[in-house]
Amino acid sequence: MSLLHIQQIQKSFGANQAVKGISFDVEAGEMLAMIGPNGAGKSTTFNMLNGQIRPDAGDIVFMGRSLIGRSPREIWQMGVGRTFQVAQTFGSMSLAENVQMALLSSASKVYALWQRATLFKRDEAIELLRLVGLETQADKACSALAYGDVKRLELAMALANQPTLLLMDEPTAGMASGERNNLMALIKDLVLDRKSRPNGLAVLFTEHSMDVVFGYADRVMVLARGELIAQGSPQEVRDHALVQSVYLGYGQTFQGVNA
Ligand code: ADP
Ligand code: MG
Repeated sequence: MSLLHIQQIQKSFGANQAVKGISFDVEAGEMLAMIGPNGAGKSTTFNMLNGQIRPDAGDIVFMGRSLIGRSPREIWQMGVGRTFQVAQTFGSMSLAENVQMALLSSASKVYALWQRATLFKRDEAIELLRLVGLETQADKACSALAYGDVKRLELAMALANQPTLLLMDEPTAGMASGERNNLMALIKDLVLDRKSRPNGLAVLFTEHSMDVVFGYADRVMVLARGELIAQGSPQEVRDHALVQSVYLGYGQTFQGVNA
């Protein structure tokens, strides 16, 4: 059984069919890239997987349980992690406190106690910061962080619920190429490190840089105008004529698609 099984999910916004009934699987422990031009339906797909958008039709089955109708919070507690957006970190709070918040939200429903809970799971928070290379900055305010470090913090927070599946929609957006490779190498190390655990850690990510996609993905899916037009190994996808024509149709090549 696949870790995540997606069966014919669809979503329209008015007359705009953003996602037209796509099916795919994510296997335990794999790094799977979803690529495609702007407007292809990638973010809509991710938002259906994390519970922010309910599909018009189709099913999403995670570890044998349907996610349809569950809240983002429930889905997160089941072990589907996602990177938080920058705006969702609290600038005036320290890195450690941000990670503690994420740990708190995965552990309990009680937010009201936060004022008295700044010691909650501090050690665990520091351990997560260590994993992403930020432990020496644990007590710094988030607002003082460099952009690349904010992305690392988001990753530490996404790991707070010990996910078996991590959803990352454009994790390296806005990064310079060196930083981008550092973050992806870190994610790849985490995936390799967790291979020994039950179910491991699978990552589904979108990415514009083809260097990153071909450097880090085990498998690649291509979405165009709401349909999956190809999937396979990075090499198979690179050689796929239809994929090349889609990118060329948008004035981009695999060499030059880097947004
Ligand atoms: P991608 O992430 O691949 O760039 P999106 O999933 O964001 O694509 O968008 C797919 C299509 O759905 C686009 O035509 C976009 O304009 C439309 N769309 C996305 N979100 C909304 C929304 N909340 N309301 C209306 N239209 C939307
Ligand atoms: Mg998007």
